[in-house]
Amino acid sequence: MNLGEVALTVLVADDSSVFRKHVEHSLSGKNYNLVFASNGRETLELFERHDPHIVILDWAMPDTTGGEICRHIRRIKKSAYTYIVIVTANQTSELRVEGLACGADDYITKPFDGEELLARLGVGSRIAQLHQELADKNRLLEELALTDSLTGLPNRRAVEEWAGHQLSAAARHHFSFWVVYADLDNFKSVNDRFGHHAGDTVLKQFAELLKQSSRRSDICARIGGEEFLFVLTHNTFEDARRVIERLRLQFSETWFEFQGQHVSVTASFGVTQFRKEDTQNFDALVRRADAALFEAKRQGRNRVEFEK
Ligand code: GH3
Ligand code: MG
Ligand code: MG
Repeated sequence: MNLGEVALTVLVADDSSVFRKHVEHSLSGKNYNLVFASNGRETLELFERHDPHIVILDWAMPDTTGGEICRHIRRIKKSAYTYIVIVTANQTSELRVEGLACGADDYITKPFDGEELLARLGVGSRIAQLHQELADKNRLLEELALTDSLTGLPNRRAVEEWAGHQLSAAARHHFSFWVVYADLDNFKSVNDRFGHHAGDTVLKQFAELLKQSSRRSDICARIGGEEFLFVLTHNTFEDARRVIERLRLQFSETWFEFQGQHVSVTASFGVTQFRKEDTQNFDALVRRADAALFEAKRQGRNRVEFEK
């Protein structure tokens, strides 16, 4: 979100109506959305409701101090940063130092000059904007760190994180947890015959079918070159088998056209299930699924093999 284009919300907290009017007047016609509170309780309520970008906070209010509110705002976890300007009638530096120590970013002293307030809020707006950009970028980086760039599927790290939580839930609530290890068959020859780009097209198509096969309670991921994991939960053996068989068949019946030739590719699948006597170790389940996959390859490929 670009805060430069939206009106920033400013919460003005002061028990003096004259002060509130003065702020309103100073900021009128500017790109600020003003919200007013006249005591501490109201300040916290409005803060919760509006999640303001900037708070202009009177140091001395009837039911609390600005310092208390400052600390509270900094303590509670918020999605975005709030820039806090403390307002004090006191000219001594101790109060200003205390305010800044409580988490305020800036201060103004009463009586204040409207132009100065505007200039200080300009600084606050820039800081709020920078924080927002940083938060957006962090979110994007987090997403990228968990996504395979070729297929858009979750990557190994993402499936491991997800599986860690789900596996303990499966153990606690006794729902089924199937791990499927899929590997495309003779995939090297696709690359060798038609080039890497053709290989990538096949990988994306397999990923697409995999996505279509998984429900909200499942996850599918690309964990390496032409290797994928598919974790299904809350499925009976019959259901799991049906879903994986259908995926195998759909993929084998998909025709690609490369260099004027019609080409189909198959995949093999190894499947295991979390059993109640197992330790909650996802890696161990993946190794067992991989062993079943090895068996599927050994028995001729293009097949689904459940762990014996
Ligand atoms: P098998 O049936 O035993 O699995 O044979 P395979 O040829 O599929 O297995 P192998 O491990 O020998 O080859 C895997 C190939 O996958 C080798 C590599 O060129 C290809 N590969 C790995 N990552 C990518 C990728 O991102 N894009 C493309 N196009 N190919 C990839
Ligand atoms: Mg492989
Ligand atoms: Mg392979």
